[in-house]
Amino acid sequence: MSTWRRFHLNDTIKALATSENSRFFVRVVEPPDEHRHPRECYRWNLPDAQETADKIVQGYYPHDCSDENCGAWNKLD
Ligand SMILES: [Zn+2]
Repeated sequence: MSTWRRFHLNDTIKALATSENSRFFVRVVEPPDEHRHPRECYRWNLPDAQETADKIVQGYYPHDCSDENCGAWNKLD
């Protein structure tokens, strides 16, 4: 099982893609005290999972998704 993570909005939001067997679980961790409950889903490959995670972040927390405000995707251990 591997997890990829990208920070958004000055590190307040985490987009996560975790491999589970042959698919990827997509979820978004909200800033503390926020409860918009972003939807969770599965995707069949990593690029799709990452793109979907970024779209979910943008859908629930619209922001200027730029290099200044947001990080890059990184693989965690
Ligand atoms: Zn962003």
